[in-house]
Amino acid sequence: MSIKSLTPQFVPSFPQELEPGELYLAMEFATAAHLCACGCGNKVITPFSPTDWQLLFDGETVSLKPSIGNWSFKCRSHYWVRSGRIEWAGDMSQAAINAGRKSDAEAKARVQSSRSEDVVVRQPVAQTRERVDVPSLITRFKKWLGF
Ligand SMILES: [Zn+2]
Repeated sequence: MSIKSLTPQFVPSFPQELEPGELYLAMEFATAAHLCACGCGNKVITPFSPTDWQLLFDGETVSLKPSIGNWSFKCRSHYWVRSGRIEWAGDMSQAAINAGRKSDAEAKARVQSSRSEDVVVRQPVAQTRERVDVPSLITRFKKWLGF
């Protein structure tokens, strides 16, 4: 039997057995879990991150962005969770799925590389601030500029 809506349940961790029609939200792990809306009984895990899913909680119902495409299940169900309701989307062609996966991977790679750059740039600044070593900082800066 297919599921028509998902009720949010905020939990510290996921229970062993999930109930159909419940959306388990483990905010500490920034992850949600529910049983596939088609009724096949497969567990669907949706992590939240800028490149995975986004959660919108309006105080009563939840929406997930983007859609959930269970391509790895036999059912290949594809649906949206909007204001707690399941809205079925059409099946996607394999080419479209691959294209989506590729752009996901590219988006992830971009985020990861920009994050590691942040770490590299920020660390020296924090160290020089602790030392309050201004003249040598200026010297080093001039050296770096080529003076
Ligand atoms: Zn299913």
